[in-house]
Amino acid sequence: MDKINRELSLIAYYLSEYNESAISALGYRTCSEAMRGISVRLGKPNNYLKLRRDEFDVLTNSSRRGWANRPPTKEVVVLFDEFSLKSFEELTAHIRSILQNADEAYKNKVADAVEDKEYIEAVNKVTESDSGTKVLRDKPVAAKKVQSRTAHVYARDPVVAANALCNADYKCEVCAEHETFIRKSNGKPYTEPHHLVPVRYQSLFDVSLDVENNIVSLCSNCHNRIHYGADVSELLHKLYDNRKDVLKKAGIEISFSELEQLYK
Ligand SMILES: [Zn+2]
Ligand SMILES: [Zn+2]
Repeated sequence: MDKINRELSLIAYYLSEYNESAISALGYRTCSEAMRGISVRLGKPNNYLKLRRDEFDVLTNSSRRGWANRPPTKEVVVLFDEFSLKSFEELTAHIRSILQNADEAYKNKVADAVEDKEYIEAVNKVTESDSGTKVLRDKPVAAKKVQSRTAHVYARDPVVAANALCNADYKCEVCAEHETFIRKSNGKPYTEPHHLVPVRYQSLFDVSLDVENNIVSLCSNCHNRIHYGADVSELLHKLYDNRKDVLKKAGIEISFSELEQLYK
């Protein structure tokens, strides 16, 4: 049995045995909310968890009695014997950590991609309405805490990114000569914001990574290259050399080799 199915079985057992206490201990209000939420977080179809729980219902104290007319499979009996040795508290702590790890993995996967469309669109809106201003921080900005349990991506402010594009005069910071195109809305060259120290590593820093000092302006080609390209060391080095002093001003202390590691 693979790890994810084992983890789902454990959660199914927990929900079957402890029902409402389990649902609220995991921060859900209703059973269906828990089923849906947990399945999404673990990337499994909803009915898998439900069926698994039904199987455990025959063995646990559940009043549902799930598949009462069918004897449980051997596999379920073996798992039940193992899981039922653990206390409610032990199971709660373990399952919370399973879900947190799943959230973390999802967040990394999402944030690995080029800054998402929704964010770029929001930055475009600000840029097009001309409210980007030249701003650089001369002291650290406190990191914003992620508010919601389901927020997989750290908060990023489109105004900050628009300022960063303005700082670069809407040129690509890898090379100002890189060809880009003119926006139809306001006649400015089109570039995209990129967080040099990726925001998915925010938890490694006490200070905010979502500051102008850490956002570079890149042409579409360089932006895709920095996310998806093989051997981006040279490109990264160039950006880092230009930025290391202003990064320090914003309290973002990082060496080149450390930065390079974050892109591996
Ligand atoms: Zn990017
Ligand atoms: Zn470029």
